[in-house]
Amino acid sequence: MTQLTLALSKGRIFDDTLPLLRAAGIEVLEDPEKTRKLILPTNQPDVRVVLVRASDVPTYVQFGGADVGVAGLDVVLEHELGPYGGGEGGASLLRPIDLQLARCRLSVATRADFDYAAAVRQGARIRVATKYTQLARQHFADKGVHVDLIKLYGSMELAPLTGLADAIVDLVSTGSTLKANHLVEVEDILPVSAHLVVNPGAAKLKRARLQPLMDAFRRALAASTANA
Ligand code: ADP
Ligand code: MG
Repeated sequence: MTQLTLALSKGRIFDDTLPLLRAAGIEVLEDPEKTRKLILPTNQPDVRVVLVRASDVPTYVQFGGADVGVAGLDVVLEHELGPYGGGEGGASLLRPIDLQLARCRLSVATRADFDYAAAVRQGARIRVATKYTQLARQHFADKGVHVDLIKLYGSMELAPLTGLADAIVDLVSTGSTLKANHLVEVEDILPVSAHLVVNPGAAKLKRARLQPLMDAFRRALAASTANA
């Protein structure tokens, strides 16, 4: 029997993927918030779920630690632009389905009293703190804006408040976190949603098991768009 391993991150990605899995006849048999297990069985003996950090999902799938995974486009593109990415040789991951989950956007934000447009116009070097150094580098290079990037792993909002940076590149959904920290969104970089990512080898070798899963996902997505 062909084993299928699905990489998910705890939290919104896991929670939002459950209904799609259910539509494909897959029930995860344990609650990640209640167990210490990192490998979760499902009601399908040939399907298991591995719990990894959101930003590790592309790495697991690319190198075969998982056959498929669900990851935000932010994380997927940051991975593709990084050292493990496909580069010239083509994509290291297949991205067959936009699951339309965990929608948000990647944006530039600054303190309300920082004149971003003026800084750009004057060609000033802008200090930008972000977890997304690759996406940020590409964005500002495309715009011809000079930046010094500062890599952070969390709480990006703090950077402009403490003087660590002039701006941040971070995910925004409602904007309430920015507002609570007196930050304003000054530029939209990328619309983000969660995608299904697939290991290219598994896509060929495990096609018989993957195809029905992807068909069920697509049917569930079409049904939910029709009802929207
Ligand atoms: P982590 O904090 O470990 O990165 P999250 O659950 O916060 O994990 O984020 C996982 C993915 O969910 C992100 O990569 C992004 O695609 C999406 N996401 C993050 N924040 C939001 C948000 N506020 N609203 C909707 N989707 C989000
Ligand atoms: Mg988070």
